Amino acid sequence: MEYPESMQEFMDRFHTEEACRKYLVQIRWNSRFACPRCSSVSAWEYGDGTFRCTKCRRDTSVTAGTVFQGSHIPLRIWFQAIWSVVSQKHGVSALGLSRALGINRQKTGWSLLGKIRGAMVREGRERLKGVVEVDESLLGGVRPGKRGRGAFGKTLVLIAVEDKGDAGIGRIRIAVIPDASAKSLRDAVSRMVEPGSTVRTDEWVGYSNEAMRGYRHKILKRSSSEPGYDPTPLVHRVASLLKRWLLGTHQGGVKETHLTSYLEEFVFRFNRRSSHSRGKLFYRVIQEMVGANQA
Ligand SMILES: [Zn+2]
Repeated sequence: MEYPESMQEFMDRFHTEEACRKYLVQIRWNSRFACPRCSSVSAWEYGDGTFRCTKCRRDTSVTAGTVFQGSHIPLRIWFQAIWSVVSQKHGVSALGLSRALGINRQKTGWSLLGKIRGAMVREGRERLKGVVEVDESLLGGVRPGKRGRGAFGKTLVLIAVEDKGDAGIGRIRIAVIPDASAKSLRDAVSRMVEPGSTVRTDEWVGYSNEAMRGYRHKILKRSSSEPGYDPTPLVHRVASLLKRWLLGTHQGGVKETHLTSYLEEFVFRFNRRSSHSRGKLFYRVIQEMVGANQA
């Protein structure tokens, strides 16, 4: 795994189409051409990024079959977009990205950002394990909604957080749920948490035996003698970070249709908060975009 360590390195290295293409070859084909038809590793390389297999003569390019295929956006701009998304601690908005890249059409900024987010998400699909705290949280809501489960005008999400004991919070996952019924909770939990793990919840009836089947279920009662006692503090910590992030980075202007991709980006960033190297994220996102990690 080889990647730029700083903004300066990034700029020095990826200012031409050729340099970006070379990097894609390195990541997708492990620095060596591989024919998608006959798997031959020998090819003639043309200046425009086309490779012709010396064995079966098929023409291919390193972007064929990837997110970059047929894009009218130069690879250089793609790379800059990916770098801005991964290198800024809190991410960028579509508008901010368009401005930074000198893109006039905001639609292009949206489309770039959507694809980069998609790649971030696919890269981190693994389910949580160990001890996992789970609780619902309400997001958005321009209208002040009634507190509680399923208040009108807000989006209900289920947040799952790995409890690493003294080491604090591990990884997280977030899912939009239609309601807090046993069925909805069951669906979301089974997507987010590895079976056999311990799931810790409050005493809401939705977390029924049926819903929690296949997990060790630990129920913490809300009605404790301690005032202000919180049975799911880790989830609440994550929820408040999430709300602040949505407000701060995106000025709260998150449309409901885009909420899922924002949530996914938040999860991706959160789960990599201690990986100091932005360059590594850059590498991972590109790797995902060229489909190199499926091998
Ligand atoms: Zn071939």
